[in-house]
Amino acid sequence: MNVTEVSSLYPAERLEAARRATEDAGLDALLVTPGADLRYLTGYQALPLERLTCLVVPAGGEPFLVVPALEKPAAAASPAGALGIGITGFDETDDPYALIARRLPVGTRLFAVDNHMWAEKLLAFQAALPGAQAGLAGDVLSVLRMRKSPAEVAALRRAGAAIDRVHRRIGEWLRPGRTEREVAKDIADAILDAGHACVDFVIVASGPNGASPHHEVSDRVIRTGDPVVVDIGGTTADGYCSDSTRTYAVGEPPAAFRELYEVLLHAQTAQTRAVRPGITAEELDAVGRDIITEAGYGQHFIHRTGHGIGLETHEEPYIVAGSKRALEPGMAFSVEPGIYLPGTFGARIEDIAVCTETGGERLNLTGRDLVVLPG
Ligand code: ZN
Ligand code: ZN
Repeated sequence: MNVTEVSSLYPAERLEAARRATEDAGLDALLVTPGADLRYLTGYQALPLERLTCLVVPAGGEPFLVVPALEKPAAAASPAGALGIGITGFDETDDPYALIARRLPVGTRLFAVDNHMWAEKLLAFQAALPGAQAGLAGDVLSVLRMRKSPAEVAALRRAGAAIDRVHRRIGEWLRPGRTEREVAKDIADAILDAGHACVDFVIVASGPNGASPHHEVSDRVIRTGDPVVVDIGGTTADGYCSDSTRTYAVGEPPAAFRELYEVLLHAQTAQTRAVRPGITAEELDAVGRDIITEAGYGQHFIHRTGHGIGLETHEEPYIVAGSKRALEPGMAFSVEPGIYLPGTFGARIEDIAVCTETGGERLNLTGRDLVVLPG
């Protein structure tokens, strides 16, 4: 990535937006340790370690970053260094929690920590700030992170194209006589070759294993006629995630599977077409669920339709019954209905979609018709 791409993916305005949101939420400060929130706000990809690294966003002051002295050069060299925020290094014998507590506004009563902060760090902050209450920063930050900028959508589009390249090659590896684990290893290598910096997950669920939505891999040997659910994803170097599922058949599958697959394809296609500003998450969920239910498979679609995606594979907005959240341009999420017949087989089709000003854009563009590989 060049400098322009970094500054458009991680613009300095985000810190001010987070400060304003902190103020509006009635919080005194946000405390953000390494993870997707820190990367979103500063571009700094730090490892979560026992030593504290923490971005502090006071509601009424300048944000600053506190890092172990030995990591100060890395922090300064990251995109965070270009944001012009103060970076304070602390020595091995310093207490960074007390240091942050001293720099927070006098009378701090309510602070919020990132949702994935380690419990030991939260407890240390609570001890350093007696009398102050802790809340979750996710309530403030997820609202910002949910609405992707054009640069973020472009990053997700690149991630989508990368995982599509892997799906197009599945026939090279998915054959009768190989185990799920063997196939998954080849896929993992290809995920890296296709332009991801890391592999997040590889699900190869053959035959009856396909009926378990989060089956990963096993030593089951793939047989002729097996439907195989392949759900794969990785993270690209700029931090954005891919996630796409296709269900393949290795040789001609049972007729009952083809019937099920046609229903699923109809549901998933209808849902991706229904993406538009203003539709609520529960309405979008129902578009596919109703089709699957009318075909008699309702009790076998056992999970929500999808999850938001960005710097994390699973984030807001969740496309789930009961969510009245209206979709807005820039929201990116998976559309992944599935039908699972316990002990028999299952199928899932998953694309990442982005809500645009006028409708939706799919970021995964491999074919959705059942691919029957040589058996
Ligand atoms: Zn997936
Ligand atoms: Zn997914």
